[in-house]
Amino acid sequence: MWEIVAMISFLAFIIAIIGTGVSAIKRRSVWKKWLAAVGVAFVLFIIGAVNAPPSENIQPPQTVAGEQGESAATNNSKDVTNKSNSNSSESLPAESEENEEIAQQGVSGQLKAHFLDVGQGDSILIQLPNGQNMLIDAGTSEAGSSVVSYLKKQGINKINYLVATHPHADHVGGMIAVVQSLAVDRVYMPRVSHTTKIFEDLLETIKAKGLKINKAEAGVTIINQDGIKAGFIAPCGSGYERPNNYSAVVKVQYGSTAFLLTGDAESVSEQEMIASGANLKADVLKVGHHGSKSSTTQAFLSSVSPKYAVISCGADNSYGHPHQEILDRLKKAGVQTYRTDTQGTVIITSDGKTLTIKTLGSTNKVRAPDTNTKSSTNTNSNSNSNKTVSSEPAAEQPIDSAYIGNNNTKKFHRPTCSTLPAEKNRVYFQSRNEAVAAGYVPCKRCNP
Ligand SMILES: [Zn+2]
Ligand SMILES: [Zn+2]
Repeated sequence: MWEIVAMISFLAFIIAIIGTGVSAIKRRSVWKKWLAAVGVAFVLFIIGAVNAPPSENIQPPQTVAGEQGESAATNNSKDVTNKSNSNSSESLPAESEENEEIAQQGVSGQLKAHFLDVGQGDSILIQLPNGQNMLIDAGTSEAGSSVVSYLKKQGINKINYLVATHPHADHVGGMIAVVQSLAVDRVYMPRVSHTTKIFEDLLETIKAKGLKINKAEAGVTIINQDGIKAGFIAPCGSGYERPNNYSAVVKVQYGSTAFLLTGDAESVSEQEMIASGANLKADVLKVGHHGSKSSTTQAFLSSVSPKYAVISCGADNSYGHPHQEILDRLKKAGVQTYRTDTQGTVIITSDGKTLTIKTLGSTNKVRAPDTNTKSSTNTNSNSNSNKTVSSEPAAEQPIDSAYIGNNNTKKFHRPTCSTLPAEKNRVYFQSRNEAVAAGYVPCKRCNP
């Protein structure tokens, strides 16, 4: 609107100058009026120009390669000779020149994948060798604060790539706390037709933070730099009857090692992934849907042919996950399987060639409170594995609070409110009564 004012007054300015000149030459007395018009047009032009918005809103680039200049690792120290997975570029469309460049660069540093024990649910943290962090899911909302404290314990303040695999509460519930507590760069989610209340709360939280959502679907690259490649293998389609089949499936490759993280993708999606011709081969498979027999079909398992599998589920969960049928299938295929319900958080480190596996034990309290603590005996370990069981003390757990108060304003909020106070000003309450008794008043926005 203001740019139009500026344009019109600029035109009027020119016309008035001409008018002034012409009437002055012809010695007509109207030249004074023309001169006044010059002045008015000039003032209008200045007002219009000052108020006009900048010409174009610059959209962030679609690919992230090169975007994170501050943390791009310079490497080239080691050449990876084993390139068994190098043909997987089919699944992650990228400039072929770029791929060659990466192959030449070689890799350095370590990639660390943490399969967090969040009880019944999924949450996977991947610390990339270039210093960036990816978080795929964040467990239930009860596990949210535990996920946040685990991340902070790792010294993480920023999630560069946040992936919500699908709208189920055991995957996205805890993500609200993550988005509220940490800096987030890029958010990826599948476009789903089924939604949940918690997912809508998450969308609102993301929007309130001014973040844009990138669509997760087969073929989308997340990162392709510094010897690291990550992108989506699924969902390949849309219109699924079961929300689980919308699951964003991420493949992460570092050097010659690869991880396939399947969310809750079921047999329908697995079939599509096979049919897509994408390279599914991976050393580590995050078993789909908590080890349910809905997933990990024989055909899919053969296509991935993992050495290791991780099942993320809660002890004594009501679904009976993992199903014996799947455990048997993995065992028969010679896959060494780790479980968060019996072994706690599982950490798999890759140096680009070899994998080292460590479990934190089921005493780690990064889990939903509704699950029992079982003994940390490894029910399916092969004793020749390179895993080491660490008895690292559990992170300090903030209480999973029902309400969050603001120490400054003396207002209290639901944990999903878009106007939560900064971490340092928070007071946690177990109940509404407790907050009221402490003299806090309910927030008008979230109406707790
Ligand atoms: Zn799930
Ligand atoms: Zn699900």
